[in-house]
Amino acid sequence: MTAYVMKGVSLLGAAPRDLVVRDGRIADEPPGAGAEVIDAAGLVALPGLVDLHTHLREPGREDAETVETGSRAAAAGGYTAVCAMANTSPVADTAGVVEQVWRLGREAGLVDVQPIGAVTVGLAGRQLAELGAMATSAAQVRIFSDDGHCVADPRLMRRALEYVKAFDGVIAQHAEEPRLTEGAQMHEGEVSTRLGLTGWPAVAEEAIIARDVLLAEHVGSRLHVCHVSTAGSVEVLRQAKARGVRVTAEVTPHHLLLTDELATSYDPVYKVNPPLRTASDVRALRQALIDGVIDVVATDHAPHAVEDKECEWAYARPGMVGLETALPVVLSVLGEQWELIAERMSRAPARIAGLAGHGGDLAAAGSPATLTLVDPAARRTVDPSDLVSRSRNTPYAGTTLPGRIVATFLRGEPTVLDGKVVR
Ligand SMILES: [Zn+2]
Repeated sequence: MTAYVMKGVSLLGAAPRDLVVRDGRIADEPPGAGAEVIDAAGLVALPGLVDLHTHLREPGREDAETVETGSRAAAAGGYTAVCAMANTSPVADTAGVVEQVWRLGREAGLVDVQPIGAVTVGLAGRQLAELGAMATSAAQVRIFSDDGHCVADPRLMRRALEYVKAFDGVIAQHAEEPRLTEGAQMHEGEVSTRLGLTGWPAVAEEAIIARDVLLAEHVGSRLHVCHVSTAGSVEVLRQAKARGVRVTAEVTPHHLLLTDELATSYDPVYKVNPPLRTASDVRALRQALIDGVIDVVATDHAPHAVEDKECEWAYARPGMVGLETALPVVLSVLGEQWELIAERMSRAPARIAGLAGHGGDLAAAGSPATLTLVDPAARRTVDPSDLVSRSRNTPYAGTTLPGRIVATFLRGEPTVLDGKVVR
């Protein structure tokens, strides 16, 4: 195994030093002869990023993404682990399917692909899936989600929360009361009224989060809230956390930056679920991320084939690709708050997913060398044709964002060098 010395690197913004990687770990002795030297002057080292919310589309929609192409996009974005959502075809609701995804991730070998299991059979919301069988499978599933759909039935949600306690699992909820969003096309507000489009009201999210934190509290189980998008949701979460409810929450990069005004373009690249909200929601989400009411930035990377996205707004599938632009967007929102970024994009998601070996302390000898090197001074104008992902549905085409991922290492092996995926 090649040893590396990263010359003049800054760990989370600290004074420059040399970082030695040997036998897959951070070492505190000299690298020895034959070590490869990486000129890391001006670069910042972060623990490898961990995404709690990635759609890899395999099995079923390999024309949009595969485990391999999604792994490449993740590595290019500085990620070393991704949690793969269950809304594939077939749905990841059995040990067989989650093991298939897990195995494909191992074969690609670029990031740790941790499958998420469905909560209900076929995501249909009627019957609990084989949660125990998925938990004890080779994939060792710990997060369960019907993402794309809400577990709307409160009795099923309660039973799911009870069931996963046995193996310290967590239910990740896509909070959307379906009766309140029938036919919805965008955020319900002043812009939707102006455009005459059916709205997706904030209360459809907030009502489910309020119900679910009460259920999680009642059962004493762990709840994770996917893609929080409204100021009202932040207040529900703030109160629940103050009471000690075991709830964690994520926000996407796009909900930290973009607003519903973009829908006036009728460009379906801006169609996403939950929808882009208002500027005041964006402000509340940013503050919640700083305060810790929101624990994690998760991409909700949602690749779509051209025909599903380049059509009329009403027919377009919701979702945006996000793995390759997440860190630049967060840098543009938070600035160079490296400690905070490491916590929200690596350590906290690793803890929630139970991923040992991720989100480690790079200053500690013996830690896994699972890290990403970022050039904060670089700026990049996003060109969809440059994306590593198989899909092109980025809302940032033509936008200049700060920060470039220079290298990514997974357990001491480079997956990205000089900004290029190694394999
Ligand atoms: Zn979702």
